[in-house]
Amino acid sequence: MIPAPFDYVAPTTLEEALTALSEHGDVAKIIAGGQSLLPVLRMRLNAPEWVIDLGRIETLRGVRDDGDALVIGAMTPHSVVAADPLVAEHAALLARATATVADEQVRHRGTFGGALAHADPAGDLGAPARALGAQLVIAGPGGTRTVEADDFFRGLFETAITEDEILTEVRIPKHPGWGAHYEKFVRVAHQWPIVAVGASVKVEGGTIAGAAVGLTNMGSTPLRARAVEAALVGQAATEEACRAAAEKAVEGAEPPSDLNGDADYRRHLVTVLTRRALLAAIADAGA
Ligand SMILES: Cc1cc2nc3c(=O)[nH]c(=O)nc-3n(C[C@H](O)[C@H](O)[C@H](O)COP(=O)(O)OP(=O)(O)OC[C@H]3O[C@@H](n4cnc5c(N)ncnc54)[C@H](O)[C@@H]3O)c2cc1C
Repeated sequence: MIPAPFDYVAPTTLEEALTALSEHGDVAKIIAGGQSLLPVLRMRLNAPEWVIDLGRIETLRGVRDDGDALVIGAMTPHSVVAADPLVAEHAALLARATATVADEQVRHRGTFGGALAHADPAGDLGAPARALGAQLVIAGPGGTRTVEADDFFRGLFETAITEDEILTEVRIPKHPGWGAHYEKFVRVAHQWPIVAVGASVKVEGGTIAGAAVGLTNMGSTPLRARAVEAALVGQAATEEACRAAAEKAVEGAEPPSDLNGDADYRRHLVTVLTRRALLAAIADAGA
């Protein structure tokens, strides 16, 4: 289908974009890579009168080092995040998860910020961002505020971003030397996961010294599996410890039932995938 008609503006600065947003308010929609928004418009699930394109705002792109954190601009395409050496070194889980998103065409157009703002519970980037303790920087008419990933995802396709705000960048605390793996279970290639698990671990002298685990499509928002993390830290990095910790992945999860599988199937799947993800992350850490 063809989208309903809309007016289009492509500002070159964040300030201009915020002004356009405040002028057009609830009849405006931001477009980043368009990979999720355009299907929505084509199916006429949304019909904004204005579309504000962030694609010409260069300051929203790129990855930079900021001391203890990496900063990823909201308009940075998935293909750049997946290949960036700083992300590979300090937030390997994010690099691994991003590399599994869709296909190359989608990864070249789709953006990190767009994926987080879209907040699809089956999206691959929310759970790794949560597990790594990301902070989301949001600009609005009153200035800029920072929201912890734990508070950012509010519900199905719902975030802390309000109608007059723009997600500008995401700060990811560095995890140097942590092993990482993203275990994604799909029915067909290049698709959203039925369930996926992102795991990152720090191993010191054969003992798990740190763990960050996120679950995709196990609830209406990306989840952080804190019970799994707590069960791992201080344990020897063994298969038995991973198996026992993985059993806790269902705690607090409310998985959906759909044509790909019912909730009980997902509850079983998540324990299997968590164990696999943890073992692969431990191997990646060189333990
Ligand atoms: C065929 C196909 C397969 C896909 N497979 C996967 C997959 O396997 N895994 C996966 O995770 N994703 C998948 N995706 C989605 C893809 O990752 C998208 O890139 C992503 O969901 C949206 O990013 P975008 O930049 O295209 O955002 P857009 O589509 O432009 O925007 C999405 C939403 O976010 C809002 N928004 C965007 N940027 C901002 C911002 N900076 N501030 C505030 N609001 C903003 C928009 O207004 C819109 O509501 C797939 C998409 C397609 C088309």
